[in-house]
Amino acid sequence: MNPVHVIGGGLAGCEAAWQIARRGVGVVLHEMRPQRMTDAHRTAGLAELVCSNSFRSDDRESNAVGLLHEEMRRLGSLIMRAGDAHQVPAGGALAVDREGFSAAVTAALEGHPLVTIRREEISELPPPDWDSVIIATGPLTSPALAEAIRAVTGEAALAFFDAIAPIVHRDSIDLEVAWFQSRYDKAGPGGTGADYVNCPLTRPQYEAFVEALIAGDKASFHDWEASTPYFDGCLPIEVMAERGPETLRHGPMKPFGLANPHRAADKPYAVAQLRQDNRLGTLFNMVGFQTKLKHGEQLRIFRTIPGLERAEFARLGGLHRNTFLNSPRLLGATLQLAAAPRLRFAGQITGCEGYVESAAIGLLAGRFAAAERLGELMIPPPPTTAHGALLHHITGGHLVTIDAGPRSFQPMNVNFGLFAPPERMPAHGAGGTRLKGPAKTLARKQALAARALADLERWAGGHAAAAE
Ligand SMILES: Cc1cc2nc3c(=O)[nH]c(=O)nc-3n(C[C@H](O)[C@H](O)[C@H](O)COP(=O)(O)OP(=O)(O)OC[C@H]3O[C@@H](n4cnc5c(N)ncnc54)[C@H](O)[C@@H]3O)c2cc1C
Repeated sequence: MNPVHVIGGGLAGCEAAWQIARRGVGVVLHEMRPQRMTDAHRTAGLAELVCSNSFRSDDRESNAVGLLHEEMRRLGSLIMRAGDAHQVPAGGALAVDREGFSAAVTAALEGHPLVTIRREEISELPPPDWDSVIIATGPLTSPALAEAIRAVTGEAALAFFDAIAPIVHRDSIDLEVAWFQSRYDKAGPGGTGADYVNCPLTRPQYEAFVEALIAGDKASFHDWEASTPYFDGCLPIEVMAERGPETLRHGPMKPFGLANPHRAADKPYAVAQLRQDNRLGTLFNMVGFQTKLKHGEQLRIFRTIPGLERAEFARLGGLHRNTFLNSPRLLGATLQLAAAPRLRFAGQITGCEGYVESAAIGLLAGRFAAAERLGELMIPPPPTTAHGALLHHITGGHLVTIDAGPRSFQPMNVNFGLFAPPERMPAHGAGGTRLKGPAKTLARKQALAARALADLERWAGGHAAAAE
């Protein structure tokens, strides 16, 4: 049996290699460090954590990333096994000793008889006799390979600054203040004429907002990020605001073609528009609000927008160098490149974000590649599971922009906004009181998490609990 080749020994590549080997299939893992380093990695260790040492919340009952941890444990994840073995105290979060963690992953793979590790950069498309390849080279994919991938996908760009707009949970928007309407009620392809949520600002509110954007505390670029261009010329909103007090009102915050049904007599001076971001309609994207403001500042400033006072954010805006595919267009349901199906992608390069999410997509890519080698059916996990919700976001759940504009697919951490709403929600709490507010939100998350684990068990059959 030919081995599967995995390129990149980071979070995703190591998990993929492990999953392949534990199914009895040979695997060759190609990692360029230490021969060639990235700008962020510092060691030769596999699965190096380049920044924080946290896998975030470990609460499997009401937190989406905690749920993903639990699903990965049940699927025999090496990353979770090493993380659990090397955890350091961090309250409800799972934080790890980075050296111990990386050493444990390296040792497990080096010690596995079906895994061969080659320390080399793969700088072009793999040779044709590598008939099953997983590319997991991450946000800092070496430039030569990034260029080869860009060429085979036909994309104009692969590495750039993500100008990321914040994404809001729809059920946290106050629709007594905001309203649904497309500009001039235009339906457009795939639209209804009421596709945007509109948040109205009076003149004093707008002026205070612009001032706050300009004064707000911003994150700075890393030195090595300075040479990568802005993607599609998407400028941060605070840079636009600095160009003049009226710039935003004639750009992303223009009020034209919109009428506020709650206050028909008042014409809004400016409008913040949010556009549906996933097929489920649970997440809305703050169009044009890409920003380098620090996270705390974003919460403070964006919640001054009428209708968003209690907004909960599925992701906050950001701007950093990244390398990722336009996956909804390029990848099939089992992460294969449609244009060259022997190539599969995993990790952050597919458009997920974070250590855990990258490893989870590596886990799926590894299982798919092993199943294919063994002549088995490759069935993706149901979208009701954390793995399935994340996979669905990457390979199809995300909406292409309703109107013409830059591609809108953006890397995403796992969050409950990616899950279909629960079919049944308890209306009353333990004491018989009607659920509302935070108690209702918690009950909803618990219902989603319980459904996810039950569906994961069904998907994985009797193997699910059989961790190594
Ligand atoms: C500066 C920075 C800070 C970050 N901070 C955080 C954080 O605090 N928390 C968080 O959850 N996420 C963070 N991330 C994101 C995090 O790096 C990723 O989510 C995660 O590491 C991605 O896993 P991956 O396996 O896809 O890529 P990586 O873990 O980066 O692994 C990719 C591997 O591929 C190798 N490689 C690259 N090109 C080639 C090639 N051509 N041939 C062979 N090998 C190659 C690299 O050396 C690397 O080992 C950060 C990212 C960056 C860039």
